[in-house]
Amino acid sequence: MMTPALPGTATGCQSAPVLRERGQREVFCGLTGIIWLHRKVQDAFFLVVGSRTCAHLLQSAAGVMVFAEPRFATAIIEERDLAGLADCNDELDRVVDRLLTRRPDIRLLFLVGSCPSEVIKLDLARAAARLSVKHAGATKVLNYSGSGIETTFTEGEDACLAALVADLPADPSAAPALMIVGTLPDVVEDQFVRLFADLGIGPVHVLPARRADAMPAVGPNTRFLLAQPFLGDTARALEDRGAVRIDALFPFGAEGTTQWLHAAAQAFGVDEMHFRRTIAPGRERAKRAIAHSRAALAGKRVTFLPDSQLEVPLARFLATELGMQPVEVGTPYLHRRHLAQELALLPADTLISEGQDVDRQLDRVRAAKPDLTVCGLGLANPLEAEGLTTKWAIELVFSPIHGFDQAGDLAELFARPLRRRDVLRV
Ligand code: SF4
Repeated sequence: MMTPALPGTATGCQSAPVLRERGQREVFCGLTGIIWLHRKVQDAFFLVVGSRTCAHLLQSAAGVMVFAEPRFATAIIEERDLAGLADCNDELDRVVDRLLTRRPDIRLLFLVGSCPSEVIKLDLARAAARLSVKHAGATKVLNYSGSGIETTFTEGEDACLAALVADLPADPSAAPALMIVGTLPDVVEDQFVRLFADLGIGPVHVLPARRADAMPAVGPNTRFLLAQPFLGDTARALEDRGAVRIDALFPFGAEGTTQWLHAAAQAFGVDEMHFRRTIAPGRERAKRAIAHSRAALAGKRVTFLPDSQLEVPLARFLATELGMQPVEVGTPYLHRRHLAQELALLPADTLISEGQDVDRQLDRVRAAKPDLTVCGLGLANPLEAEGLTTKWAIELVFSPIHGFDQAGDLAELFARPLRRRDVLRV
């Protein structure tokens, strides 16, 4: 059966009650997104206006580039800035001037807000507008917040892309264009672009583009597909510019990828037989690759602690394509509209939770004793010490996991900790 299941009625967890929790959270802040964003947009620079803590987070998470010119840095807010003894705007202008004089290759500069800049209410939107005028013709300056007060982990990318959307040129053409939205590794992006070309869908644009001057235009003829489930603000900003979202599953696994492509194919009037023929080789490759992990995962119980907002689509992939049983699927934010099709495919007895109260959640994990717990770095070691098997959620963000050709690797990421556990038990 080639046609993907299209949930038409409310089933699974689509209308299930959601446990909402507001307590202590164990997640990285939105600055983390700089780690993958700076690799994607190759002439952009991310200047965090923050503290030494922010600088340490970035340097330890992204590594220090010794041989290359770095494309992110932190303008440290010192104590005298915090005490209001110095004019932060003058200092920021001086830092930006020095940076752009030394690095004329920077075409797009993001001023990234942090907890300290939020606390002293430094107006980075005004600073970006002022600096954009000053450096017009050479460098565009935009701003967004990665502050831990306002954002968690993947929301930094959402805030960054939403800032980009506001700056995209208007699309004057009357013909529909497809926009893939969300940062993907280049190799995965190229696979999708090739598949859309083979399907006869075009023009296809991606947001973010690899270069500042290649950012796509947007307008009422833009049809966009979200590649990541954490882009609520970006989607809203695109809709405000007239673009229309194509509702789809997210492209994880053979089924998710098929349905994601199928939704676009339907929106662009692609012949059904042509669609089936075009995707068949990739879909079959994905199914064969996934099958290798099935024996390790089928029938196993899995809990997701809230981390990256990838939790719901990944739980759907594990449940529908690998026979796993989701116990609790926690997510920092639940975007019901964007995840409606995903929720409909989760088993009805899955507990969906939004937000976090970490101690209560850990109590539930200890009581349920799932075979696998997907969680943040800080929680993994203590849980392992208690005899639970864990998977670092962050690995799922840094690994290429979208699309047909990555589906086997995605399944393997979950199978590996279970195999390791079995080996250690022998
Ligand atoms: S933005 Fe806030 S949470 Fe993130 S590293 Fe800086 S101080 Fe810490």
